[in-house]
Amino acid sequence: VWKQVPQAPPDAIFKLTAAFKADTYSKKVNLGVGAYRDNNGKPWVLPSVKMAQSALIADETVDHEYLNITGLPEFTTAAAQLIIGKGNPALAEGRVASVQTISGTGANHLGAVFLSKFYDYATLGGGKRQIFISNPTWANHKAIFNSCGITPVDYPWYDAKTVGLDFDGLTSTLKSAPNGSVFLLHACAHNPTGVDPTKEQWHAIADLFQSKGHFAFFDCAYQGFASGNLDEDAYSVRHFIERRSIPVLICQSFAKNAGLYGERVGALHIVSATKEQNNAVLSQLSVIQRSEISNPPAFGARVVTMILNDEKLWAQWQKDVREMADRIIDMRKRLHHLLTNQFKTPAPGGDWDHILKQIGMFSFLGLSEKQCAKIVNDGHIYMTSNSRISMAGLNTSNVEYVASWIDKASRE
Ligand code: PMP
Repeated sequence: VWKQVPQAPPDAIFKLTAAFKADTYSKKVNLGVGAYRDNNGKPWVLPSVKMAQSALIADETVDHEYLNITGLPEFTTAAAQLIIGKGNPALAEGRVASVQTISGTGANHLGAVFLSKFYDYATLGGGKRQIFISNPTWANHKAIFNSCGITPVDYPWYDAKTVGLDFDGLTSTLKSAPNGSVFLLHACAHNPTGVDPTKEQWHAIADLFQSKGHFAFFDCAYQGFASGNLDEDAYSVRHFIERRSIPVLICQSFAKNAGLYGERVGALHIVSATKEQNNAVLSQLSVIQRSEISNPPAFGARVVTMILNDEKLWAQWQKDVREMADRIIDMRKRLHHLLTNQFKTPAPGGDWDHILKQIGMFSFLGLSEKQCAKIVNDGHIYMTSNSRISMAGLNTSNVEYVASWIDKASRE
């Protein structure tokens, strides 16, 4: 019966990982996957997670019953406080509907389904069922919105000439888009470019959201990874909520900042104007969630809840997050130094300073597809063809080797 089913292409990132695993070259490096690695190139179980996990396993009162449809209440409350800020009036006023999801991907999906069912596309956004997404963005955004019947439309983000933010392109799209358009924003540490607006630029972006009545669909997969400070990385989200009149939705993932990739811990938060609206929104999210996953997985959410609610674990987690962010920042400095001072490598935008300026797990080198292919095929350094590298894949043992291949490819 499946004769008519065409073969789908493999996922680019997972294909890259498979090629890396199959490669027998001793100096091979994987800079493709967006997962943190320690200085030995190994996955890192955060000390705070280890502590919480052991306490949970030892606790005989923990059972394996289903969670609520909307998840573990202690988790969703603590997760909302983490991203929105404990003192935020939206929480005290009962205007935040929070649902535990299958990590950030599930939050994006639940958010997309909710928009497709309830956003007033007939009168807002020019009557078009669409969402504006940055060009480029995390590849899954397009797939998720397409599968929910919402057409993704690119807005400018990355300027190849400056290897930085195309602020004029972004703001002119915010101005020209129909009033009440939905825009997806990366809360911090933009994937794949590592290019984030400054605080002043966020203010200007929020001004335009306010004047145009746009809807802010925030995707926050890297809180803590940008600056090492969890509050600092929530700046854009909190600033938009403080404006009060901007409708805001937030997708939150604990995959990266808690190193809980496989546990699938995340949440969707929708901020409403009133408590009544909030209650209706939460009831509908619950209906959607029931038919999609029935109820979310418990273990990872319990681990994160313990970390967020226990003073000692919370202090340890903050240290862990900073350690990851600092190691990445150190790798940025080393790679920049090697290319600039040791190899004196010709740079795409005139210098390699974008490696220092870019934020979070990824760096966009600004190399051509051909140059990337050389690095992959001849250097055995696995990276995507848009020249995105995961800084977390670099360490003190391989950074010079990687720099030497960026140097060779840049001279072609
Ligand atoms: N959004 C962005 C921008 C991401 O980079 C990622 C992870 N690659 C996610 C969402 C979701 O990841 P996860 O489902 O593992 O939380």
